[in-house]
Amino acid sequence: MPVITLPDGSQKQFDEPVPVAQVAADIGPGLAKAALAGRVDGRLVDTAHVIDADADLSIITGRDEDGLEIIRHSTAHLLAQAVQQLFPEAQVTIGPVIENGFFYDFAFERAFTPEDLEAIEAKMTDLASQDLPVQRKVMRRDEAVEYFKGIGEHYKAEIIESIPGNEEISLYGQGDWIDLCRGPHVPSTGALKAFKLTSVAGAYWRGDSNNEMLQRIYGTAWPDKKALKQYLVRLEEAERRDHRRIGKDLDLFSLQEEAGGGLVFWHPKGARIRRAIEDFWRDQHVAAGYELLYTPHIARQVLWETSGHTDFYREGMYSPMEEDNEDYLIKPMNCPFHVLIYKNSLRSHRELPMRWAELGTVYRHEMSGALHGLMRVRGFTQDDAHIFCREEQIADEILAILDLTLDTLEAFGFEEFSVDLSTQPEKAVGTDEIWDKATAALRQALEAKGLDYNIDEGGGAFYGPKIDVKIRDAIGREWQCSTIQLDFNLPERFDMEYVAEDGDRHRPIMIHRALLGSIERFFGILIEHYEGKFPAWLAPTQAVLLNITDRQDDYVLAVEETLKNQGFRVESDLRNEKIGFKIRHHTLQRVPYLLVVGDREAESNTLAVRTRGGEDLGAMSVEDFARQLRNEIASRGHNNLED
Ligand SMILES: [Zn+2]
Ligand SMILES: [Zn+2]
Repeated sequence: MPVITLPDGSQKQFDEPVPVAQVAADIGPGLAKAALAGRVDGRLVDTAHVIDADADLSIITGRDEDGLEIIRHSTAHLLAQAVQQLFPEAQVTIGPVIENGFFYDFAFERAFTPEDLEAIEAKMTDLASQDLPVQRKVMRRDEAVEYFKGIGEHYKAEIIESIPGNEEISLYGQGDWIDLCRGPHVPSTGALKAFKLTSVAGAYWRGDSNNEMLQRIYGTAWPDKKALKQYLVRLEEAERRDHRRIGKDLDLFSLQEEAGGGLVFWHPKGARIRRAIEDFWRDQHVAAGYELLYTPHIARQVLWETSGHTDFYREGMYSPMEEDNEDYLIKPMNCPFHVLIYKNSLRSHRELPMRWAELGTVYRHEMSGALHGLMRVRGFTQDDAHIFCREEQIADEILAILDLTLDTLEAFGFEEFSVDLSTQPEKAVGTDEIWDKATAALRQALEAKGLDYNIDEGGGAFYGPKIDVKIRDAIGREWQCSTIQLDFNLPERFDMEYVAEDGDRHRPIMIHRALLGSIERFFGILIEHYEGKFPAWLAPTQAVLLNITDRQDDYVLAVEETLKNQGFRVESDLRNEKIGFKIRHHTLQRVPYLLVVGDREAESNTLAVRTRGGEDLGAMSVEDFARQLRNEIASRGHNNLED
């Protein structure tokens, strides 16, 4: 007679073992229809699962995170079923859930075409409308291997063979189609109401390039049509903003196969933007009491042994280079170098806090499959800094770092943030006392800034607690950029000290922090955030002068020189083309201001000013335009000429 306790604490008693679906029906017909699965004593199960003892139960619907995952997982099965009905010679392999959807890998003699995807999606819709019950069966492992071999599914048989022991494994069937799976699944295919296949790509069996190439079909799935539509609109918007395409259209950067994956080449226009970012960053840091450092790119292996990187970060580092019988490693982080500068002389408490910043270029060996445009690269420049301070200075320093972080991110047009505070994990260095003190200081600083934050209990690194700041971009996506990490480990490993007031030697506290994260990735985020329409202070070309006929050439060149001499990034387009063509070209290049010059402007020493948004700001004297643009740049876009 199971007694079932629901999430609100209420209890239901049943006279005999009862399936999850029955409990849902008992609560109400609405829930019975919406139920996708159940969570029994913490374990996810199908709605057909029979509860035979007292248990806690929550009913999972499409509104739950778990429910969404079950929908996506079940849709991957639906995809595989549809593919095999249309292409019986295709063999199934694996089909996991990923962010926003799922994929499934098939062994097939050729690549699937867009027309194939359409037909497969139509077949999926047909199978869903048949509302086929999804049924769980169990088989012994060896029996399952025989079964899949028997139906010609060699990949599936290989996967099952690699499961140790001859234990029972679960299979799920819908209609006459069956797949190996741990489950749980939706009760019937009719629960899958909103899905779309998005793309197809090649993928190696088991991710190994020595193996045969499979066909990977990607799709997305949602609880209802409205959520699907919203996602597709977001996807389209993201595609329109893709930094790889805009970077190419505007000639900002490239990645070169010949040089290797994940290595970024900044073209002149991209480099102009980078310089604007870096100049601003340096000014901000100097104003906030930082000193700027430069350190080498390589160092002897022994340094990385002292820092511990060869133990806990080895797989992220490039192989050593040997020189004079010594191994050198390329730096994956700047920290040990800053520590060496600290240790170069005996430090006094009077020198603390010391704030040292570096735009430090590091190299990390990312898997080639993980590389993505500017977002995931192998060589990148961190906007890194380390603060060395006394224990009682932690709170003030964290507060100052948060100020600098928010000021900097806001200058780049980001206004919404979400913050995570990660606390002491089980395995940690440093005393509980210092962890408590430091965590309290982080918390205090967040509260003083009035920032809402989530606590990731136990989510800190082993060497100290940290704050991560995520920004929200123009289309609502979140990006983690800033991180502030306390470190009780490196000062210990490098035996760092300062002389305290009483003459005793003490360990300093070390704080690592980056505001933008990596310049490359931040640039990618900026391109997508602005859709390439950078505000004037960042725009590679702030204004372009366009003549109407060659009669204005001399005037245009004189104005160009005047504006350049005042530090503006200006170009002239004297091509013998129609003015409409030139306006269109530079609008597509997202130049903020188009300065049109005809006879009238040349004679009256003025410019006809247009924005890339198509707005006509009328005639302005060269001085007026220069003054207004200067204001706009100085305020980083808050005094826009368009406003
Ligand atoms: Zn499954
Ligand atoms: Zn560091």
